[in-house]
Amino acid sequence: MSLFSRKKTIFVDSDILVIGGGMAGCGATYESRFWGRDLKIVCVEKANIERSGAVAQGLYAINCYMGMQWDENQPEDHVRYARNDLMGLVREDLGYDIARHVDATVHKFEEWGLPIMKDPETGRYQREGKWQIMIHGESYKPIVAEAARKAATEVYNRIMVTHLLMDKTKANRVAGAVGFNVRTGDFYVFRAKAVIVAAGGASHIYKPRSVGEGMGRTWYAPWSSASAYALPIQVGAKMTQMENRIVLTRFKDGYGPVGAYFLHLKTYTENAYGNEYESTWYENTKELVGDYIDRHPVPTCLRNHAFLEEVKAGRGPIRMVTKEAFKDPHLETIGWENFLGMTIGQAVVWASQNIDPKHTNPELTTSEPYVMGSHATCSGAWASGPEDYAPDEYQWGYNRMMTVDGLFGAGDTIGGTAHKFSSGSYTEGRIAAKAAVNYVNDMGKDQPQVSEDEYENLKKVVFQPIENYQVGSNEIVAGTVSPSYLLPLHGLQRLEKIMDEYVGGISTNYMTNEPLLNRGLELLEMLKEDMHHIGAEDFHQLQRAWELHHRVLASESVAQHTLFRKETRWPGYYYRGDHMKLDDDNWHCFTLSRYDHESGQWDMEKAPVYHIID
Ligand SMILES: Cc1cc2nc3c(=O)[nH]c(=O)nc-3n(C[C@H](O)[C@H](O)[C@H](O)COP(=O)(O)OP(=O)(O)OC[C@H]3O[C@@H](n4cnc5c(N)ncnc54)[C@H](O)[C@@H]3O)c2cc1C
Repeated sequence: MSLFSRKKTIFVDSDILVIGGGMAGCGATYESRFWGRDLKIVCVEKANIERSGAVAQGLYAINCYMGMQWDENQPEDHVRYARNDLMGLVREDLGYDIARHVDATVHKFEEWGLPIMKDPETGRYQREGKWQIMIHGESYKPIVAEAARKAATEVYNRIMVTHLLMDKTKANRVAGAVGFNVRTGDFYVFRAKAVIVAAGGASHIYKPRSVGEGMGRTWYAPWSSASAYALPIQVGAKMTQMENRIVLTRFKDGYGPVGAYFLHLKTYTENAYGNEYESTWYENTKELVGDYIDRHPVPTCLRNHAFLEEVKAGRGPIRMVTKEAFKDPHLETIGWENFLGMTIGQAVVWASQNIDPKHTNPELTTSEPYVMGSHATCSGAWASGPEDYAPDEYQWGYNRMMTVDGLFGAGDTIGGTAHKFSSGSYTEGRIAAKAAVNYVNDMGKDQPQVSEDEYENLKKVVFQPIENYQVGSNEIVAGTVSPSYLLPLHGLQRLEKIMDEYVGGISTNYMTNEPLLNRGLELLEMLKEDMHHIGAEDFHQLQRAWELHHRVLASESVAQHTLFRKETRWPGYYYRGDHMKLDDDNWHCFTLSRYDHESGQWDMEKAPVYHIID
């Protein structure tokens, strides 16, 4: 018997289990109660839903709002926008479904107390851009969490979910999940009729630009550890567009957002010599992607491409011209408040580097890549679409159900739907929850059963890193390095280095090719072998160990997808050096993968892109 198999096991039964209490998870929890008055709704979160997820620190804008009440935009317009930005490849059925419901979500946020700025002349919400509205959003997350807390039967904070459980009576049906309390180490077995995964995106799978003491500073939330992908991948759910990682243009060193600066302050970029540079790269980009460069707005990845090429040509750094806008005291206030609402660290970085944007145009940088499904990118699980709108090929059951029965997803978890952001992720949580309630109601007596062998075996697996550490540390007399175990931080650095050098990170200017990807996959395989020897000195490090497991599996998926798509669809996000051009004849399609946990094999296939909106 292993040292930790004697840890207490706590059983929790529910009708609907929501994994992750961020934006999508809170939306799912709230809506599950609306449709399932008598159901047992449980939300499990590795932090505390009060301040968890990517919105933990607050936001200054809600980036997805149609404004249908004022006829500002229609859902079809948003689908066209997202399709354009993603170089033609989005699930239009899923995007339309979110866009038609997102306004109602934002109205709820306001009703619950979120202060939304108003245009003093029109009385409408203050627009930052065509899709964005401005908020005083420091308390955005607590407001959203309160509604979820009141709706849930129970919220379990501080529990990291490590694996999903499968039904022992029916193949390919989910039956719950297991995890552990990151403070007490208690082991949890959640038995559920339906599971909604809403566990955020993935940062720290690529080597970050920040090094040493600044390593935790990334653009995406550092605690977004790829569980949203690893949990479904482990049980064989199909994934889509995992190659579509995102690279962000941000203020240097603090990763402060540029949206309000571009859209509201009307600041613009220039090279080190004060010249506009994007037009310089027009012909070059047209060579690579054809007419996509002529689209409006210019797709995000193509603007990155011009930035990168200009820097490679020796005319960096690229700067944001703030000196003009900051002469206006109102715009200066907005510029600073924008950081106070969501990235205070950027203001601190500027103060520490003697940058006053009134007198100095601050430098920009491009981030390391992240994997997520809700920003200007759409990696994630392949999900069934809405009954009234999805083409037959995109429908195999309930809305937002993955290819595993009873397993739903929302937010960063679901692929093919870019530009949902905070409000769209919450909305997608609501959509998934409504469908999950229907699924549970339709189930009747044929309920999933969990196998005792399965969860007992997982209990040993989950606590193995603690045992590895306790045994391995006996072999050393001082320090922390042992020949018998690998610490989570060392494993993380090894992963980041592999992804960076072989799968298109910052060190290679986001460039990769088939030989590099194949070698990267070999190195990831070796890392996976060593993961059996990961050591955790306490429960906090045990969480780090499992976060690393999830990151490694998601990274492997990214590498497999990148290898499969033999073109460069999104220059500026990454480049296939051996297929530098966009190839609409062969690759105007989604890439799908399925991982077989037993064999470790990945099956890849193409799926058609249906253009439903003209
Ligand atoms: C820097 C930044 C700026 C952004 N700016 C804007 C903006 O200005 N406007 C806007 O509208 N949107 C913005 N977004 C996007 C928005 O934050 C996301 O779209 C949204 O949070 C995604 O929702 P989600 O529920 O999928 O993920 P999250 O909100 O990140 O929630 C995921 C949750 O899952 C939990 N979790 C993860 N793994 C596990 C596990 N194994 N077990 C249990 N729990 C787990 C996490 O702790 C977290 O609470 C921004 C995002 C970032 C990172």
